[in-house]
Amino acid sequence: AKEIHQILDEKPIVTEIQIAHWQWIASYYMCAIGDVYRGVMPSALLLESETIISQKTTDFVDESLLSDDEYLVYQALQLQSSLKINEIVAILNKKNIFPVIQKLIDKGVVALQEEMQENYKPKLVRYVRLSAQYETNNGLGELLETLKNATKQKEIVLTYFQLLATEKKPITVKKLVDSAQSTTAIVKALIDKGLFEDYYLQEDRVSFTGNGKEDQLQLSEIQSKALVEITDSFIKKEVCLLHGVTSSGKTEIYIKLIEQYLLLGKQVLYLLPEIALTTQLVSRLSAYFGNKVAVFHSKYNNNERIEVWNQVLQDSEKAQIVIGARSALFLPFQNLGFIIVDEEHEQTFKQMDPAPRYHARDAAIVLASMYKAKVLLGSATPSIETYFNASTDKYGLVEVSKRYGNVMMPDIELVDLKDKYFRKRMNGHFSDVLIENITSAVALGEQVILFQNRRGYSPLLECLTCGHVPQCQQCDVSLTYHKHKNQLRCHYCGYSISKPTHCHSCTSVHLTTKGFGTEQIQQELTILFPDYKVGRMDQDTTKGKFGFEKIIDSFKNREVDILVGTQMLAKGLDFDNVSLVGIMNADNMLYHPDFRAFERSFQMMMQVSGRAGRSYKQGKVIIQTYNPDHNTIQQVTKNDYIGMYKEQLYDRQIYKYPPYFRIIKITLKHRDFDKLKEGAMWLYQVMSQNLALPVLGPEEPAINRIRNEYIRTIIIKIPQNSSIVNTKKTIQKMLNSFDAVAQYRAIKVSINVDFY
Ligand code: ADP
Ligand code: ZN
Ligand code: ZN
Repeated sequence: AKEIHQILDEKPIVTEIQIAHWQWIASYYMCAIGDVYRGVMPSALLLESETIISQKTTDFVDESLLSDDEYLVYQALQLQSSLKINEIVAILNKKNIFPVIQKLIDKGVVALQEEMQENYKPKLVRYVRLSAQYETNNGLGELLETLKNATKQKEIVLTYFQLLATEKKPITVKKLVDSAQSTTAIVKALIDKGLFEDYYLQEDRVSFTGNGKEDQLQLSEIQSKALVEITDSFIKKEVCLLHGVTSSGKTEIYIKLIEQYLLLGKQVLYLLPEIALTTQLVSRLSAYFGNKVAVFHSKYNNNERIEVWNQVLQDSEKAQIVIGARSALFLPFQNLGFIIVDEEHEQTFKQMDPAPRYHARDAAIVLASMYKAKVLLGSATPSIETYFNASTDKYGLVEVSKRYGNVMMPDIELVDLKDKYFRKRMNGHFSDVLIENITSAVALGEQVILFQNRRGYSPLLECLTCGHVPQCQQCDVSLTYHKHKNQLRCHYCGYSISKPTHCHSCTSVHLTTKGFGTEQIQQELTILFPDYKVGRMDQDTTKGKFGFEKIIDSFKNREVDILVGTQMLAKGLDFDNVSLVGIMNADNMLYHPDFRAFERSFQMMMQVSGRAGRSYKQGKVIIQTYNPDHNTIQQVTKNDYIGMYKEQLYDRQIYKYPPYFRIIKITLKHRDFDKLKEGAMWLYQVMSQNLALPVLGPEEPAINRIRNEYIRTIIIKIPQNSSIVNTKKTIQKMLNSFDAVAQYRAIKVSINVDFY
């Protein structure tokens, strides 16, 4: 047994359920438990050690035996029982303090110890109050008498009493100084005289105030019916899918359910695919639930995160409802009763890099089972996996096929870009149909959203003479042209150069751009619609803590008439004045080399279209495409989710993909092309010999080099009904033997279970 050196926390800061959940994540997603801890705990909760010294003895110390330096440290220790290294540096005013400390230790004056330190610093606010002796009835008179000749101090005292009478709560120094239009120096003078005293209180860094008194929400008949169905399904099942078309009022149904769980004294977790969406949701929820709403945000700093962590741990009033993106799943809930996963189909719920590569929706379902809590998955376009689970009775299924207020689903029109008639009438990337519709929408004061799933000006710069296309030096991709900055930029590693004036291959000056991104669309719009304000929402314009919010706000406030953007636009935003949505080019999504490409294109187009005509009138959607007859596009125009689902499900079965097969993707990376190729083949052969399962690869992905590392992938398909546990064990064994081969040790291996 060893001595207890230090007690870190009075109470544990993580719960048993958290630990069990994290262990599940490590084993299911095949990563080290350390990776999970590092990924899920706010870094400020991880401890730092700091060396300190403390006074060792209360015995008599012969001061005459101490050198000057030693004496200074010894003296400081009389006032303060321990000292940190940097404090000693300050006292001695020199860097090399260790000989001094060593002498003090040798002489038995001090002891050296390591102290664990939390990084968290509470936010303290300075308050003032009257000294106790003046709290009597005639205290004020006495006070003013003392201050007869100090006008400025008298003013402060009078303001203090005024504030006390009107505010009826403790008064901060800042408030007092601001109200009296005075300075902190004057307040300090009063404190020095012993008339006032100051004290500190800890304050929350983040808090949301809503009045919590929003008029009682009335659900429509359709919404009420859905609510009853969900509650019923929770009697028998843990998970329920709410499949409700865009603008069917899912959020209001969530609110009613949250209310029920709060009444039971349960905590509620509300997961969103994107932190940028929290602002809109927080204001909607705090209107009903007042300050019971907390947000866990990856853009929050460490201290802010710790506060939310502690509130959740203490089951505080302030954190009964926690809104967050996937990381909120890892908070120390005490009493979790209900989890909502809104827009459950969103890809962003799956963490890609670094490990743990978990899917927040699936991890939420496992977490809920540990708390015996319920999960509601919501989407207008559920993922194939989820809809499959719902239709095979694993989950409950509730459908809402009408928009709130009986607003019609948008009318979708296709523009065939192959058609000669349309082609002749193109103005830049705009068909005449699209231009006409934008013209009449903006003329009526309505707003327009235009979707293009590519940022920048154009994805390629090409030499007209020799066909050369500038490539990234570090990645196997061509550089995207950003006109505003006159730069060519790599979207994978951030590498950038200014736009060349001539071809680096043949020196020709005839360079042209190919394809188009949001920046080009915005530029064309400013020429086509000079009288209207055009905004843009993509990764380039939403940087910074509130970048996204600023654009959303200016669009909501109608400072922007036409908003151009990437898939960020598709994520559950609610604008009430948008009557037209244009999809500039539907095709590049469809032909992505990915088994989910059709599902994703459908979801994306349906979600973007869903932004049109939400509050009062039917909206219009125009899709420009070279493939108007493509099944997926036809399904979008007919609002035919089930058609899309059935077609995709059929393909998934034939080609062995989810939900019939689980996919484990192994990615190998190394700077040396030949070594990687050899290593990948070695691993592939071992795997296909030892696993009685389909193993594909080693494949060269479409982008086969990023940041100077070459990439190879191996895919393993595991039938849904076979034991994944044993398969994973075998895979792990093979990876270990791969690692044991000396020449492959430097190859980076990452595992992605349920690859998205
Ligand atoms: P969804 O999340 O299904 O796309 P929302 O919850 O955003 O739909 O609802 C669409 C719009 O209808 C919102 O502006 C919302 O305020 C409004 N709405 C929905 N249900 C109600 C209700 N019961 N009472 C008043 N307004 C509602
Ligand atoms: Zn050239
Ligand atoms: Zn690059």
